[in-house]
Amino acid sequence: MSYVNMKKILDNARKNHYAVGAFNIVNYLTAKAAVEAAEELEQPIILQTSVKTVKAFGITEMMSFLKPIAEQAKVEVAIHLDHSTDVAFTKACIDGGWSSVMYDGSQLALKDNIKNTKEIVAYAKPKQVTVEGELGAIVGVEDDIVVLAGNHAHAKPDDCRVYLKETEIDAFAPAVGTAHGVYKGEINIDYDLFDEINQFSFCPLVLHGGTGLTDEMFHRLIALGASKVNISTAIKIAYVQGMATYTKLNVDQNDPLKLDAFTKEQVKKVVTEHIRFFSLRN
Ligand SMILES: [Zn+2]
Repeated sequence: MSYVNMKKILDNARKNHYAVGAFNIVNYLTAKAAVEAAEELEQPIILQTSVKTVKAFGITEMMSFLKPIAEQAKVEVAIHLDHSTDVAFTKACIDGGWSSVMYDGSQLALKDNIKNTKEIVAYAKPKQVTVEGELGAIVGVEDDIVVLAGNHAHAKPDDCRVYLKETEIDAFAPAVGTAHGVYKGEINIDYDLFDEINQFSFCPLVLHGGTGLTDEMFHRLIALGASKVNISTAIKIAYVQGMATYTKLNVDQNDPLKLDAFTKEQVKKVVTEHIRFFSLRN
């Protein structure tokens, strides 16, 4: 079966020193484009949905078109909920058919983050749904979660040890200096911290804020053990700019299917570039 949870995909990536792209899709077209790119490269893929996107469609409606794409894919596909700060909503998506969820309690005190993450893990495990957790603050805007640059905080190794041990999550996103959205100014990634956490973490590490990192940064972080890399902004840009380009070039055409086909190719191109790079064995 091609519709899987994240664990199998990521454990294999970690063992073999490559990373799997997790792409934030916004509708059928972007999901289909992403999976076709993965199929052509014969690589696994994670389709990520933001809470905002899921709410725009509705849980049942969104899963009704995502699940068939995953089930019919020629490669392994996980469908993952990104940055959910709401315990009840996270559980609703687990019930709704997501094979993986991220519960983001990073803005809470450590003990409350642990408590809520544990609750999600206990709910998800019997359903074979995997859970990603976060510690520290990844700056920028993701969905409606705003973390100001001044409030940025790297994950603390001691907190990470406690959090991992207590929660038994399947994938871990420690904040090490990457940011959501488009980077402003210099990017300061703490590679040593990332390496240290990866050494003691029993589960694969996740890199948020992938858009805008250089090839060298990706390469270094994947070599250090990043197994999942999140790409959201680059997909949004490819989608919106693809549409803009097409309508500019074909002012009086008004052909939605041709517009969709063109836009889909632009999204596919961006996904392909990322998967090709992430899947190189380090
Ligand atoms: Zn993120």
